[in-house]
Amino acid sequence: MADNILSRGMKIDSRCQICGLEGESSNHVLFSCTWARQLMSDRSVSSQFTQSIPWLLWLLWKNRNDFLFEGRMSTTSNLMEKSQKEASDWLQVQMIEVLLHSRKSSCGYLNAMDAKLCFWTWAVESMSNLKIRRVILVGQEEDIIGMIKRPIAWPSFKFHSSTLSDMLTNISQWRMVVEEKRCNKGAFLIARSVTMEDR
Ligand SMILES: [Zn+2]
Repeated sequence: MADNILSRGMKIDSRCQICGLEGESSNHVLFSCTWARQLMSDRSVSSQFTQSIPWLLWLLWKNRNDFLFEGRMSTTSNLMEKSQKEASDWLQVQMIEVLLHSRKSSCGYLNAMDAKLCFWTWAVESMSNLKIRRVILVGQEEDIIGMIKRPIAWPSFKFHSSTLSDMLTNISQWRMVVEEKRCNKGAFLIARSVTMEDR
């Protein structure tokens, strides 16, 4: 913050770059900046608001940096909506129980279909190796699920899907369901943490 940097003897503009008032402390950015106060008073649903406060503070801080370094600033309603979304995502995750979880990275696929088939085969192979006999396989790959469930409708992919079909014979009871990735919450959040949060 400006106050902090000034105390170390560096010359910078000590005013808050968002509202123009003197003394940009962390307290100012998060609580007393006119902008933060406007956001805090804009609470339409109170219980939703209370549970999203930690995300709101984080987003206020992020907003300050975005404005300072990139000249971007979100609207209060945008920040409010985002913080409530983050809070409800987090609360949902607390209710999901992930029993087993594994990851695989690979390269050299011929095309997207090849990659999808390899991934599905790996998932089924893992279930089979773990001796899990009753499985509901859920994913957003309508094509893969289609070619397994109705191979007649996908004649040109018969060869491609054969490894996956063979692997499925090791599982005594299985079902495949097309599901939008946001509904497959546990898997979605694990995948997002790997691809976007560099974990
Ligand atoms: Zn301010």
